Amino acid sequence: MNTEFVKISVNDGIEKYTDAAELLKNNQVVGMPTETVYGLAGNAYSDEAVNRIFEAKGRPQDNPLIVHISEFSEIYDLVSEVPENAKRLAEAFWPGPLTMILPKAERVPLSVTAGLDTVAVRCPSHPIARNLIKSAGVPLAAPSANLSGKPSPTKAQHVYDDLKGRIPYIIDGGECDEGLESTVITLATNTPKLLRPGNVTLSQLKSVLGEVQVDDAVLNPLKKGEKVSSPGMKYKHYSPVAEIVLVRGSYNNFVKYVNDIQCESAYAMVFDNEGEGLKVPYISYGANDYKNLSHSLFDSLRELDKLGANICFVRYPDESNDDNLAVLNRLLRAAGFKVIDV
Ligand code: AMP
Ligand code: MG
Repeated sequence: MNTEFVKISVNDGIEKYTDAAELLKNNQVVGMPTETVYGLAGNAYSDEAVNRIFEAKGRPQDNPLIVHISEFSEIYDLVSEVPENAKRLAEAFWPGPLTMILPKAERVPLSVTAGLDTVAVRCPSHPIARNLIKSAGVPLAAPSANLSGKPSPTKAQHVYDDLKGRIPYIIDGGECDEGLESTVITLATNTPKLLRPGNVTLSQLKSVLGEVQVDDAVLNPLKKGEKVSSPGMKYKHYSPVAEIVLVRGSYNNFVKYVNDIQCESAYAMVFDNEGEGLKVPYISYGANDYKNLSHSLFDSLRELDKLGANICFVRYPDESNDDNLAVLNRLLRAAGFKVIDV
């Protein structure tokens, strides 16, 4: 399959979306930019389109998709009930990087929800994503547009690297602002529960909802036989080819530890302005605060593969700062929960 790669800017008119919308109407899939990461979009009401998404990504069939809408009012087509908490969250954070899980409406196919009776809904803020949804005239199911297991794509080139020949069309809308997938919260439980941290932070959610539980799987590996609240959390995720090892401790101890280890093609991933004293090559993944780290984390993980790294020792973000929860969650999964204390 030939993969078309088309640049669209936020100032372009709606006529720019004709080809992509036509493909979506024919149950094909399209790579689209959002403010979080690039998504692989298909008509959420079409089993055919949804199956194509799973196939192109090699995504496990039991991992449900997020459905994207262009306006809050479209949520009424997708869910059986819109509770007050959903209205309050939408008021505070939509359009934006927050996904809500709610009981699904009849018409949402079980292929999208992987057989669950709930559906994940998000209204993205990226103008290109919203224009595309409007042009297609239907809500768009869209997981991240990477091969399953790889770091999520934050540039159109990442989508092309992973999915060329597997999908017909990619919209290049530039680099994603956020760089990390949306926060996922379920409102289908008695107390709202955070299933995946993102850049709408836990404290922001609490400021709107009061009590919010945090699912165990956010920072811990699954115990054997444990039932997951969010199927996506049971998979190894966000992994480059290089083995990722998180090293927790002071910078001096990090340098000593990494310099003492004899590994071939070893790299270090450090914070901005670090690197002094290291005997292995290193890349930086931003200042030690969540906005910075989340923006370039996935790009840095992909960079390691380009460099041919076998193993990479990564500085551990400040875990006393709750806002770092999202970056920590992704890094722990990329590392298969391997953390060395120094
Ligand atoms: P992705 O779109 O690849 O970033 O992943 C979407 C995430 O949302 C995955 O972790 C899914 O397991 C989760 N998710 C989607 N729908 C549901 C649902 N109905 N209930 C719980 N988790 C969900
Ligand atoms: Mg994903």
